[in-house]
Amino acid sequence: QAKEGGRDNCMIYNSEMEVKAHQNLLIQNELRYAIERQQLSLVYQPIVDAQGKLTGAEALLRWQHPQQGNISPADFIPVAEGSGLISEIGHWVILEVCRFIREQQARGIGVPKIAINLSARQFNQPEFVERLIALLKAQGIATDALELELTEYALLTNLCIMNTRIDLLRKAGISVAIDDFGTGYSSLSYLQNLPLSRLKIDASFVQKIGSGRSADAIVKAIIEMAHSLELKVVAEGVETAQQRAFLNQLGCDNFQGYLFSQPLPEVEFAALLRPPRRKLPYAAPGS
Ligand code: C2E
Ligand code: MG
Ligand code: MG
Ligand code: MG
Repeated sequence: QAKEGGRDNCMIYNSEMEVKAHQNLLIQNELRYAIERQQLSLVYQPIVDAQGKLTGAEALLRWQHPQQGNISPADFIPVAEGSGLISEIGHWVILEVCRFIREQQARGIGVPKIAINLSARQFNQPEFVERLIALLKAQGIATDALELELTEYALLTNLCIMNTRIDLLRKAGISVAIDDFGTGYSSLSYLQNLPLSRLKIDASFVQKIGSGRSADAIVKAIIEMAHSLELKVVAEGVETAQQRAFLNQLGCDNFQGYLFSQPLPEVEFAALLRPPRRKLPYAAPGS
């Protein structure tokens, strides 16, 4: 009987794997055309301060496939990394953010700092930093208009090389944040040694706030540690007023999540930038 059960599990596992493998194949075959077929776009998720005032945004990729509908970056970014397409896509993202900033500026509208996600493979290309700095110059975009988000995984390589690269970015005026903090192979030594400017607490920790003493203690410890290393803290995935209040009380610097805003299409995000800037979330009618 145990054997039969095992076989059933195995079959379920296989059919799930088949679906996944099929999707991966589709993604691999079609992603290469996504740029030229104009199926990629960026959405911008507001990042706010303790008062709810807009201080920046994170650019997030969207792939609208004609048959499959929206494919999540969580599904296609790993495939892009595996196939090497990530460099081309990552380059497109940077150009697209530059275009957005330029267009707003041409209308006299200031754009707050835009954070861009970089995959490990993209960041680890030789001369990536030098080429990025040259590109921004050619695009007429100030280096402090951008922030780069790297995951702990991207920093796993040689600490000395990372230090040189991040230092080069910082000297050029481009700040670097560590994304999804707490989910990777965290090593405290890189936090101490790398010239990072912000730490983003992963949503999984934020969403456990209020569920128990240890969950709350972890969030508190992360914020205190970051501050003692002179890093600003951004909480990701803030969904409830209770989470916000707890984070506020701990001195968390910035907030991002559905409580304030979903990631917005470019036009909607641009509308937020036109004065007068409102606070997020909007007061409910009648409140
Ligand atoms: P991330 O960088 O950690 O981005 C935050 C993710 O959390 C986004 O998912 C965002 O839509 C989602 N999110 C924001 N607020 C909330 C909330 O209140 N609750 C919940 N449950 N989720 C929230 P998204 O857009 O699906 O992106 C997933 C991941 O894909 C990103 O995680 C990032 O690692 C990667 N990604 C997205 N765009 C790019 C890109 O241009 N380049 C690279 N290399 N990776 C990207
Ligand atoms: Mg991110
Ligand atoms: Mg994140
Ligand atoms: Mg994430």
